[in-house]
Amino acid sequence: MNHLEVRDLFVDYIDKKTITHALKGFNASFASGINVVIGLSGSGKSTLLKTILGLLDYEGNVSLNGKSLDEVAPRDRNFAFVSQEYQLYPMITVFDNIAFPLKIMGTSKEEIKERVYRMADRTGLRACLTRKPRHISGGQQQRVAIARALIRNPSVCLLDEPFSNCDQKTREDARGWVKEILTDQNCIGIYVTHDFKEALLIGNRIFVLDEGKNILEGTPTEIFDSPLPLIQEMKKASLL
Ligand code: ADP
Ligand code: MG
Repeated sequence: MNHLEVRDLFVDYIDKKTITHALKGFNASFASGINVVIGLSGSGKSTLLKTILGLLDYEGNVSLNGKSLDEVAPRDRNFAFVSQEYQLYPMITVFDNIAFPLKIMGTSKEEIKERVYRMADRTGLRACLTRKPRHISGGQQQRVAIARALIRNPSVCLLDEPFSNCDQKTREDARGWVKEILTDQNCIGIYVTHDFKEALLIGNRIFVLDEGKNILEGTPTEIFDSPLPLIQEMKKASLL
């Protein structure tokens, strides 16, 4: 079991006139599996992921399996990140998009082929491998983004509301295969969403983020049963 520890994280955004305290002492321990971070818009979810990636200045500590990452540059953290924007390479095929991280690592052609085909089968992309991104649907493009992120077996995969631009059917399908792949790869998945129902369905463990702090964590059942007003509000908003 792998562990990503986040201790006393503080992050401020400083503009000309205003300071926003986006994270105010966030604490959590994320284990292998799907960790959902749920919170209202503006609660600090994207800031948390960017901080873990090493893209923002922060106070506090981030460590993986007991090893501090605080002095480690983003590219050396070897974490995968998927956001709502697909950010695919438009000029190359789906196959080459998924293969890209392996090519950079110098993986052999044979191995690339085998791994891309396996990943394409799992994500339902086998039939579109020879197409360019603009010739596949939005849902398929998002699958390519996730396949590309997971192809090199990252130890941590950060997903920032990855399916919020996809239709209902795509979102429902995706929950299943995303969970399956991350579990198979023994990856620490941190999945950010503001959708309460989605959090309950996909999460092994759920962390509730409110105004830059982790105010509650537990299994989906524990979270569902919590009397916390914020949870009651989210339940109501998602008609549960
Ligand atoms: P979430 O992803 O939960 O919606 P964010 O992490 O994006 O929340 O934002 C947390 C807080 O920080 C919000 O108040 C937001 O307005 C502020 N914020 C986010 N990014 C910036 C930025 N680049 N500059 C200034 N304030 C920011
Ligand atoms: Mg966000």
